[in-house]
Amino acid sequence: SDAKVSEMLARIKADNVKFVRLQFNDILGIPKNVAIPVIQVEKALTEGIWIDGSSIEGFARIDESDMILKPDMDTYQILPWRPADKRVARFICDVYTYGNKPFEGDPRSVLKKNLDEAAKLGYTFNCGPELEFFVFKRDANGQATTEFVDHGGYFDLAPSDAAEDLRREIVLALTEMGFEIEASHHEVADSQHEIDFKYGEALSVADKVITFKFAAKTLALMNGMHATFMAKPIGRINGTGMHTHGSLSKDGKNVFFDPNAENQLSDVMLYYIGGLMKHAKALARLGNPTINSYKRLVPGYEAPVYITWSAANRSAMIRVPAARGNSTRAELRSPDPTCNPYLLFAGMIAAGLDGIKNKILPPPATDVNIYHLSDEERKKRGIEMLPGSLIEANDELLKDKVICDALGPHIVENLTKIAIAENDEFRLTVHPWEIERYINNF
Ligand code: ADP
Ligand code: MG
Ligand code: MG
Ligand code: MG
Ligand code: MG
Repeated sequence: SDAKVSEMLARIKADNVKFVRLQFNDILGIPKNVAIPVIQVEKALTEGIWIDGSSIEGFARIDESDMILKPDMDTYQILPWRPADKRVARFICDVYTYGNKPFEGDPRSVLKKNLDEAAKLGYTFNCGPELEFFVFKRDANGQATTEFVDHGGYFDLAPSDAAEDLRREIVLALTEMGFEIEASHHEVADSQHEIDFKYGEALSVADKVITFKFAAKTLALMNGMHATFMAKPIGRINGTGMHTHGSLSKDGKNVFFDPNAENQLSDVMLYYIGGLMKHAKALARLGNPTINSYKRLVPGYEAPVYITWSAANRSAMIRVPAARGNSTRAELRSPDPTCNPYLLFAGMIAAGLDGIKNKILPPPATDVNIYHLSDEERKKRGIEMLPGSLIEANDELLKDKVICDALGPHIVENLTKIAIAENDEFRLTVHPWEIERYINNF
């Protein structure tokens, strides 16, 4: 509305903003932006800004490439690491087509569409992702290495070193950008960290995931280090996950909690879990979108391999934490932070709603350590595995009508193109492991 625009313009003026970044996301969840001087903001807020989408990954359309960015005023934030005298603010934008319709290749619009489906049933989808990352040294030329910055351990008391200082800086910057930080700690592996922020409605949390990664990478760079969210930067030590806690609420009340049910878990929650398990293989394409993602999904490093759920153990794909009441939730442990959070959350809510609409009960919970079961025992219990590669995951996506419909054909076609291109690229490369393994023996 006009009043909202005037209010926004007044705030931008009061904040002494000089440049505004209009941010949007490609299909990989990589933020793109167009910078505009502050005098253009009124036009951007009222009419939107035209861009050429043809060179954006996953955007290209044959018929038309001109698109419009429409800033979401709720996403206004100052970038706290920019100098105050050249203040930069950003908006996250929705992408519209030439015909002024939401662009079907815009991941944010895909998430919105799926959240609307949940809203039709009265549900709000709440997500709480745990973001992990490695901090590595840069070499003399400024290139990222895989050399550790620190040798701390899980929850170690902060040794005063560069990585701890960086983590504190990231926490401060995110706090200034409206995050409610719940915890930050050293992770299991050397040089690996986690920062948790309070869960919220899925759209704003997806925005926050993008902002988080962008802020962490920027602040690491400014401090001469490199922050990476890749899933498995180093073999044989823990990879990097993005466990995603999810719950549904109705009229502000968590509908996963039922004080009278077994374990106080409602039917709706069981159906949600049933839906996530049914669609787990296709969801891997969204939550684990790189070749490298599948090097994390192996036994022995706290990442799931089997499609199971449990209230007790952390080897399950879905864990139900002990907290109840408003904190009743299901933790999906398979995704990693290379995912596009908009597409992952869209897939999760579509899978959950399928479970709810069709009353899909999950199989019995697996409360033993799955890795201690023999193949035969697993087979008897009907326990299936997550896909072992990006191509397998993409094939699973193509077989899954519910998830394909949730994403729409434009996204599915582009994800498929990307998976095939990545796989071809990988196969055209001879990796150091192969040389080491074969050059002398054969
Ligand atoms: P873990 O025990 O797996 O390490 P954390 O404590 O690190 O889990 O993270 C828990 C996440 O779950 C936080 O982001 C938190 O805000 C979120 N969370 C808490 N309650 C809910 C809820 N009802 N719905 C969704 N997420 C929630
Ligand atoms: Mg955690
Ligand atoms: Mg924790
Ligand atoms: Mg962790
Ligand atoms: Mg967790």
